[in-house]
Amino acid sequence: MRIVLLGAPGAGKGTQAELLSEYLQVPHIATGDLFREALAKDTPLGREARAYMDRGELVPDAITIAMVRERLSAPDTERGFILDGFPRTVEQARALDEVLAERGRKLDLVVFIDVRPEVLLQRLSGRWICQDCQGVYHTLYNPPERPEICDACGGRLYQRIDDRPETQRRRIEVYLAQTAPLIEFYRERGLLVTVNGEQEIARVRDELRSAVDRVRTRA
Ligand code: ADP
Ligand code: AMP
Repeated sequence: MRIVLLGAPGAGKGTQAELLSEYLQVPHIATGDLFREALAKDTPLGREARAYMDRGELVPDAITIAMVRERLSAPDTERGFILDGFPRTVEQARALDEVLAERGRKLDLVVFIDVRPEVLLQRLSGRWICQDCQGVYHTLYNPPERPEICDACGGRLYQRIDDRPETQRRRIEVYLAQTAPLIEFYRERGLLVTVNGEQEIARVRDELRSAVDRVRTRA
């Protein structure tokens, strides 16, 4: 299945994408993770993306689309994928359609994880990420068993620079201006399902699975 998870920064896309990726056995592709990986390796892509990421702005479409196009050409996407953090603009959404159409494919489902801005700020402030496996934790809502250590792989947890309060707000503004229009874009195409992302993680997971199962039985 080819699925897009749509939602503001902190809505729970990464958390749910990881769970859904295990459920469906298809890769979880997060453009934010791909950029952070490039940044950590100090590649030309990472150096180009850094300034935008630090400011909480979007990396330009041409760069982002080229990166996703390449990732989607890898053989592990044959059986499908879960995209997290892409598309984030209408131009990216159109490019995704094109890339898939070139291979005779289409998206099966877009899930909008709906969370109010005031809740997003609490989520981002308490977020910790594993530097090795990108596992996502929260000091209150999903704490690791040992402070600052990943339950899954034992890696160190860190807080993202762009989760600072000034950048959080900017990222939410950018989301509302540039990404939120995709909700209508996908609704018009009959692909959108909305899930209330303010419920606990397991409940959101179950609703996502039901949405996926409904599409699977239809296919
Ligand atoms: P996104 O990928 O959309 O930016 P994340 O999956 O990284 O969001 O989640 C943001 C933060 O909120 C993380 O610290 C995560 O542990 C926490 N979180 C995710 N889903 C929920 C939820 N349903 N309830 C409470 N906290 C959540
Ligand atoms: P995320 O991990 O999804 O919160 O993304 C972190 C940062 O990476 C964003 O604030 C952007 O600077 C950049 N980024 C990730 N995905 C995209 C995208 N689809 N388009 C443009 N920039 C992106």
